[in-house]
Amino acid sequence: MPKQKKYTVTGEGICHNCGGKTQKREHVALTDRQVRAPFYYSKWFYCYNPNCKTTTIMHDEDRVLNNNSASRQFKDYQEDQLTLDFIRNIK
Ligand SMILES: [Zn+2]
Repeated sequence: MPKQKKYTVTGEGICHNCGGKTQKREHVALTDRQVRAPFYYSKWFYCYNPNCKTTTIMHDEDRVLNNNSASRQFKDYQEDQLTLDFIRNIK
């Protein structure tokens, strides 16, 4: 079976690290790993520059939470963190 590409290129962007051109990529289909994880990124940017330390750039707003137990634990964790931050801020 030929190896299928797992992503599709949907646009371009600029790398915030080196200022070079990046490729905007999205998943063609979700893999098992993404489905089992608490979340995955619906799109991300890939930097071409071989000298750049940043190869993939992900944004929080592109994060998709999965509807599974790992995701629920992650959400609880995030809410706990928000509560902690809130308590710290009002002191
Ligand atoms: Zn870069």
